[in-house]
This record gives sequence, structure tokens and C-alpha cells, in this order.
Amino acid sequence: MYQLLNVDGRAKRAEVSTVHGKIQTPVFMNVGTAGAIKGAVSSQDLKEIKCQVELSNTYHLHVRPGDDVIKKMGGLHKFMVWDRPILTDSGGFQVFSLSGLRKIKEEGVHFSSHVDGRKIFMGPEESMQIQSNIASTIAMAFDECPPYPATRQYMQDSVDRTTRWLKRCQVEMKRLNGLEDTINKEQMLFGINQGGTYGDIRIEHAKVISELDLDGYAIGGLAVGESHDEMYRILEEVVPHLPQNKPTYLMGVGTPINILESVERGIDFFDCVYPARNGRHGHVYTNAGKLNLLNAKFQLDGRPIDEACQCPTCRQYSRAYIRHLLKAKEMLGMRLCVLHNLYFYNTLMEEIRDAIDANRYSAFKEEKIEKMLAG
Ligand SMILES: [Zn+2]
Repeated sequence: MYQLLNVDGRAKRAEVSTVHGKIQTPVFMNVGTAGAIKGAVSSQDLKEIKCQVELSNTYHLHVRPGDDVIKKMGGLHKFMVWDRPILTDSGGFQVFSLSGLRKIKEEGVHFSSHVDGRKIFMGPEESMQIQSNIASTIAMAFDECPPYPATRQYMQDSVDRTTRWLKRCQVEMKRLNGLEDTINKEQMLFGINQGGTYGDIRIEHAKVISELDLDGYAIGGLAVGESHDEMYRILEEVVPHLPQNKPTYLMGVGTPINILESVERGIDFFDCVYPARNGRHGHVYTNAGKLNLLNAKFQLDGRPIDEACQCPTCRQYSRAYIRHLLKAKEMLGMRLCVLHNLYFYNTLMEEIRDAIDANRYSAFKEEKIEKMLAG
């Protein structure tokens, strides 16, 4: 259930109730691809760094260890020892991006596993069944991620098929949630808006899927090569055609500035691999911009990454020590950077929520971006 708490301009502040607890939005979901954040971050760490929602990838878990294994182990919550909300993607993105050999048909997609080359078939029903076995809190509908750029005709055909697939997902999830041995019988379903950079196709699609009364709506297929301005323009056009009283999720985005700009355009769910991936390379976020800890100037720097940060890393360790660990390729170096970066993102979301609560989002956003760019 989605309860809108405040609206400041178009920025939304809400509380989402799930069987695994409440989510305060705007929220950043922390990406744990195969049931863990890359960089040796455990589910216990996630609680310490203010993670509200963990996001796992259906495709990866289906290929390894197998969703049948996860179901036998009691579902992903029990398996990874995490009792808060989990969102799973549909597998569609990986099917379309990782697998070179694939064939799209009305019933679904035939492709080869990137692990062992084994032939796999995934369609709307299979995606829902896998996500039901994983027993995530929120499942994503199976859609096609169209290539960028794509012709108008390709896009229209693809979006029409995504709509037909979405209806099949809805029917299948209803069936699965009614089965006796289903682990999470209250699994929620988010639909996905597509249409590339064709604003009119996206708007029409948004209207059609809004009528299906789903638990939430995502905007997919952005941040795939178009400019930031183009992405913001699409959000300005499409978001008003999606239900305001439901989660509005911008998939795979983005930098702190992308998030600040998108919140202003009505987005309240985010996920992105940047903070963990950058952290693993020693690139860390601060309120005055990003630092590369591998730089020689940090060799004798006794300060924490960010003096204002209260994360487990900054409370104890110096830039010099972390730099040494990264140079020595000690796993702890990566882990400390990933913990800090995710804490930074989760804290940014907290500040965003406070600013919307106080009806000062626009001013907050300007200030925040100015400081980040000055650094
Ligand atoms: Zn920190």
C-alpha cells in the first residue's frame, strides 16, 4: 500500500507498506546482483548503512544457484538473512544485454546462459515463476529492453509486445500468489514503461499500463546512451501520465545529481550499480564531489573520506589507510569504499526526504548540486 505523505512541486514523499516492512520514499535500492552487494558487503552491513530495499537480479539467481534451490532454502530473505524488502528485476534486462544469441518471439525469449552456454527460455510466465520462487517483496514485469537507438517502428512493436507481456505477468502472478506452496503470497508487481526517447509512444504506453492498477510503475530503457537532458525531458513528459499515488521507479539511474533532478520530476524509487562499482575502484563520493583514493595526494592523508560522514568506514579509517589497502589489492579496501558509497547514497535519500517534508526541495536540490560541482 502506498501512502502519499507530502508533495513539494512534483517531488513525492511517501510510505510504502509491504509484508517485509515499510519503505520511506524517495528510496535508493542497493544492488546485490546475486544476493550480495559486490565488495563483500553482508546483509548485516546493509542494516548499518541504512539500506531499506535490497535489489537482486532474477536472471543471475536463476542461472546460479537456481531459483529452485532458493525456494527449497525458504526464499531469498531466509537464504541471505535479510528481513526487509527485496525487489527483483524481471531478468529481461540481462536476457537482452548479456546474451549475444537470442531470439525474441511472442511467447518469450530463447537465449544462452552466459555461465555455461545452456539454452534457456524466458517469457512473462517463466519470469513470474522464478521471482515467485525467489519470493521477493516486489517483482518486476517481464519486458523487452529495446536497443538504443531504435527505429520508431521497432519501438512501437516492442512496446505493444511489452504491454501484452505485462498483462500475462499480471495473470500469472495472481495465479502464483494463490498457490498453497508459494512463499510470499503477497508479492507485488510493478509494470514498466518503455518507448525509448519517443515521448508520444511513452505517454500512450503510460496511459495503457496505468489502467491495469498495478502496485507500482517503473520507467525503463533510460540511461542507455541518451543525454541527461533527454532523460529529464522524457521524465517531464511521462511521469504526469503515471499514477501519482503509486511508486514511480526510474530503473538503473544514476549519479547523485541524476537522482536529485529526477526526484524533482516525480520519481521516488531508484537503483544503480554506480556506488558499489565506483567503490570497488576506489572512487568515493563526498558532498564536495568524487575522490579517487588511488591518487598519490592521499598517501599521508589522515582524514576520513568525508569528515561529515558517519558511516562505518569514516568513523574509523583514514584515506591513507584505505589507499594503501586498494594499492595492495586487499579486499578490505574495496569493502570500506563500497560501504561508504552506499551509506552516502542512502543518506542523500534521507536528506531528500527531509527536504520534501519541509517543502524546501527545490532550494535543497540547488544547494546540493552546487556543492557537488564545486568540489
Ligand atoms: Zn563514510
